[in-house]
Amino acid sequence: MAKQATSKPAPTTSEWVRRGRSKIHGGGLYAAKPIPAGTRVIEYVGERITKAEALRREERRLADRAKGKDGCVYVFELNKRHDIDGDVSWNTARLANHSCDGNCETDIIRGKVWLIAVRDIAAGEELTYDYGFDYADWKLHPCRCGAKQCVGYIVHRQHHWRVRKALKAEKVNKKSTAKKK
Ligand SMILES: [Zn+2]
Repeated sequence: MAKQATSKPAPTTSEWVRRGRSKIHGGGLYAAKPIPAGTRVIEYVGERITKAEALRREERRLADRAKGKDGCVYVFELNKRHDIDGDVSWNTARLANHSCDGNCETDIIRGKVWLIAVRDIAAGEELTYDYGFDYADWKLHPCRCGAKQCVGYIVHRQHHWRVRKALKAEKVNKKSTAKKK
């Protein structure tokens, strides 16, 4: 049968990556060959949406989560007016998992979001980056990245100290309630 004009685009590819099963979570993205620091590894593509639409989708995701469904976040801030929702089947870059010590970062270059190597990466290494989630709902996203500096939750690096402080306070609280018993 002939392909319909409305069919989905083919998954994005790049000479630098291959898909694989992740040690961290679900599917993952791996270095197909050694990647030098600074390389644009793969473009992060998706549906271009307005901030209002992004907010609507985020609210729907949180409602789903409250019902026990697992909602992942793929919305990426593009500029002041638009976001990219990367939750589309052809966005291969969405397979890259979060790590508290990622070997990649995302950057916007001329209106395009790229996954960029922050250091030299060996062939076969899993590609990861800091998802940069807000502090507000840090407890919703436990992290199993296995990095030495892992804070235990997926949250932007700049908030790690706040999460550590909050976790410490919780521990102290638990101890003092245990003593009272
Ligand atoms: Zn982590």
